[in-house]
Amino acid sequence: MSQSKKNDAPSALYVKNLKKTYNEGKVKALKGINLEIKEGQFFGLLGPNGAGKSTLIHTIMGLVTPTSGSASVFGADVVDDYQLARTHAGYSPQDINLDWFLTVEQTLDFHGGYYGMTKKERAKRTDELLKVFSLTEKKKSRAMFLSGGMKRRTVIARALMHRPKFLILDEPTAGVDVELRRDLWKYAKKINEQGTTILLTTHYIEEAEELCDQIALINDGKILKVGTVSELKKAYKVKTLEEVYLKATGDKQESPV
Ligand code: ADP
Repeated sequence: MSQSKKNDAPSALYVKNLKKTYNEGKVKALKGINLEIKEGQFFGLLGPNGAGKSTLIHTIMGLVTPTSGSASVFGADVVDDYQLARTHAGYSPQDINLDWFLTVEQTLDFHGGYYGMTKKERAKRTDELLKVFSLTEKKKSRAMFLSGGMKRRTVIARALMHRPKFLILDEPTAGVDVELRRDLWKYAKKINEQGTTILLTTHYIEEAEELCDQIALINDGKILKVGTVSELKKAYKVKTLEEVYLKATGDKQESPV
């Protein structure tokens, strides 16, 4: 999808002045986040540990209740209309949270069941995803017997089972080998080209550079800047995205021009 087309596209995610405090207000995890992701974008969220990425993602997925402000997924408010919001969104969490006793096929099938898909739809979609993620041969294997890479692919396939329009990939390549990282990039690009909007968090700067058409820098519960890689480099007057990241989030934080 071309950039201009994406600019006119509807919002996949719309976050307005979102705040979240923990421990009776003592911890301010989100300090008024404003963010918009357009349909079709491959959007990166970069920030150091403790920046607020998980809190933001968990709020979108209805796992954390915002203190104030709002967020919606394809127009469905994550609090008032959380069931619809969750139907629009697929979530591949950082931690592999598979049921070890289920086979790959059952993992996908049961997930489809939770979302009200018919048996026939589930079987068709399971077959499709097993093929896309090169898991067909492993469909009868229990999750506990899969390699790390296969577990990761199963988690992402599961997130896509109910055909969400918006996919959250939370550090999908943390701790995976180079080959699988390349494979996951390929899958993610393909899914995005087929129309799925993606929000990616990663600590690998080159990954964001390779995949994302828009990047938001987050630190200390605030969005510092949003833009394409070249816009960010220009704003921070540096030559690489890594320098942007360090300048924005390092000890000597700088605001962009
Ligand atoms: P990130 O995902 O970017 O590492 P988090 O959203 O996990 O950031 O954390 C943001 C801030 O909120 C941190 O200061 C963290 O310690 C705090 N925090 C996160 N979850 C909780 C919680 N359940 N209770 C208290 N503080 C929390």
